[in-house]
Amino acid sequence: DLGCNLPVSLSCCPSGIPGIQERTLVAVKPDGVQRRLVGDVIKRFERRGFKLVGMKLLQANEGILAEHYHELRRKPFYPALIHYMTSGPVVAMVWEGYNVVRTSRAMVGDTDSAEAKPGTIRGDFSIHVSRNVVHASDSVEMAQREINLWFHSSELVDWDCCDYSNTYQ
Ligand code: ADP
Repeated sequence: DLGCNLPVSLSCCPSGIPGIQERTLVAVKPDGVQRRLVGDVIKRFERRGFKLVGMKLLQANEGILAEHYHELRRKPFYPALIHYMTSGPVVAMVWEGYNVVRTSRAMVGDTDSAEAKPGTIRGDFSIHVSRNVVHASDSVEMAQREINLWFHSSELVDWDCCDYSNTYQ
C-alpha cells in the first residue's frame, strides 16, 4: 500500500491549492491516431505531471464536430476540417491539474504547424495546419464546454495521484 487509500488527514495528496482541479480536453486527431502518435501525446502529459481523468477512442460524427467547431463554421477550410476530423478515429482525453488549459496550449504549440516551435507536439510531429495532430481547449470556459460535449460525467474518474506531493507542495 503506497498510501493512496489513507484517510484524507493522513494521505499524501495536498489540499487547498487553488486551481489544481482545472480540467481540459485534449484530443489526438485522426492523423495522429493513423500515425501512431497517441502514446507520444499521452507520454508528454503524463511526464509533465498532469492527471488523466478520462479517455476514449471514438469515431466522431458530424454532429459533435459541428458543435465542437461551431465558431469556425464560416471559415473557408471548415468543410475540409470536418472531412479530416471524420476520416478516422480520434482519442479524446480529459487531463487535470494546475493551469492545465494554458500549459496544454503551450505544449501543443501554434495552430499552424509551420509556426509551431520545436519541443511542442505540433512543432515536433507536424508540418501543415491542416494536419496538426492534436486539439487542446483554448480557455477554461471552452474546456468545460468541450468536456461536456465529448464525455458523460460518468466517464470521468476522480482518483488520487499517489505522487501529488512531488507535483504540488
Ligand atoms: P486550434 O486547434 O489551435 O485551437 P483553431 O481553433 O483556430 O486552432 O482551428 C481549429 C482547427 O482547424 C486547427 O487545429 C486546424 O486543424 C484547423 N485549421 C485552422 N486553420 C486552418 C487553415 N488555415 N487551413 C486548414 N485547417 C485549419
